[in-house]
Amino acid sequence: MAAEEQAGALEAGRRGLASLIGHTADELSYRDSARTCLRALLNNWNLPVASTVWVATNEFGPNLDEFERRGLAVRTMPSADVYGHVDVDALENMLQFDQPAFIHVCQIGSAGGVVQPVHEIVDVAHYANVPVVVDMAQAVGQVPTVTGADIVYGTSRKWLTGPRGVGFIAVRSDAIRPVQIDSSDAYVAGALGLGQAVSELLDIGQQRVFRELAKIGQITRERLYGIASWEVLEPIEEPSALVTLAPPPGWQPSDVAAAQRRLQDIGILVTCADSWRAPLATEQALLRISPHLDVRRSQLDDLAGAIRTMGY
Ligand SMILES: *Cc1c(COP(=O)(O)O)cnc(C)c1O
Repeated sequence: MAAEEQAGALEAGRRGLASLIGHTADELSYRDSARTCLRALLNNWNLPVASTVWVATNEFGPNLDEFERRGLAVRTMPSADVYGHVDVDALENMLQFDQPAFIHVCQIGSAGGVVQPVHEIVDVAHYANVPVVVDMAQAVGQVPTVTGADIVYGTSRKWLTGPRGVGFIAVRSDAIRPVQIDSSDAYVAGALGLGQAVSELLDIGQQRVFRELAKIGQITRERLYGIASWEVLEPIEEPSALVTLAPPPGWQPSDVAAAQRRLQDIGILVTCADSWRAPLATEQALLRISPHLDVRRSQLDDLAGAIRTMGY
């Protein structure tokens, strides 16, 4: 591709992604994964010594490792329900007495389909002059991601079904605690592929995709609800397509891994989600089901039938 043509495609990709996440194109930088975006943020951010970050119970385990590596103290925000949605009223009260350096939220975590109320969290945080950082690695391409947050980052390879090896981070130019993240030319191929994936989503229509995925999540949960003593861990109507099941009592992680292997030929992505993915929420390995737009009802029937034979 001629350099000029490539520059045009890159710019179009930036604009598409920026519109999807509620930022401007010039606020975007690329790295090779969501994790390295978080690392770049923490390395470049000039935070006061002994800073604290507040997180939700669905926080991604490797992110907690990054906070620890940077010497940040972590505090868990209270949940409003058993599912782990952040209790925004309680958060608002807490913020009157104490302000962390920033709040970090996984809009959707890696071990559950709960969608955090990021908009509401941003509202109360900004009222207290606290910036909000959103990990949208599981959210971008799955649910609406225009949230008003100061800093957001994510990955190409999950719900956007873009190429591996590229992640993005965007810092609002009026962020409460600004930070400069240099953009790099090292990720041109990845950024082009990511831009292409975003443009396919925008062509189908993002609202349509979000609506359909939410419906697929709901149908999947309805189908899997109440099977033997497996437990669906989201509200049935949670507007996401990630569905997690807790195994019957007494199951070990190796049992869940074996169950995952027995389910892998059905044609729906099933993961054995070990507790490192959400260590603040669970000590258990879970079965995570990630149906996409192409899922068929017969596959859900097969899945439900197979799970019924496992457990009691
Ligand atoms: C997968 C995931 C990440 C990491 O994404 P990479 O691009 O693999 O680094 C971060 N946060 C959450 C919630 C994830 O699910």
